[in-house]
Amino acid sequence: MAELQEKFNKIISEIESKIQNKEELDFIKEKISNISTLFLDQLDKVIDLNTARMDEIAENQTILNRKIANIEQFMHNIEKDIYMDDNCDFEIICPYCNNEFEIDISEEVKNEIECPECHNIIELDWNQEEQHSCNGHCCSCGSECEDEDDNDDEDM
Ligand SMILES: [Zn+2]
Repeated sequence: MAELQEKFNKIISEIESKIQNKEELDFIKEKISNISTLFLDQLDKVIDLNTARMDEIAENQTILNRKIANIEQFMHNIEKDIYMDDNCDFEIICPYCNNEFEIDISEEVKNEIECPECHNIIELDWNQEEQHSCNGHCCSCGSECEDEDDNDDEDM
């Protein structure tokens, strides 16, 4: 800006040395001032426009980031669904005949189940099973396992 001021003053002094009539000189200086104002106004508009464009770009970036985050969440959910579907067969050992069989607990969690071999009713104690079988990703104890994960995050 100092360089611009210097050039401006140089032009004015050149005009002053050429124009001897004071009235004409004042008139020319005033017109030059008017021209300068016009250009400065235009410059401000260009700067405003650029600022608006930068804001727009930043806003687009924010929207993009949000979309990417949504996609990542979506992918994560798909991953979790696939993993859970694989692990919703729960292995049961009948206490009456030692028959091993699997039940599907993806749709409903049952409290008792009939052994397909000896047809005795086996009571299922899910609280106890959680402690032994859960590695943090089974669907029978989702909430408690996620709590453990959350705690890990807080420690970091
Ligand atoms: Zn049985």
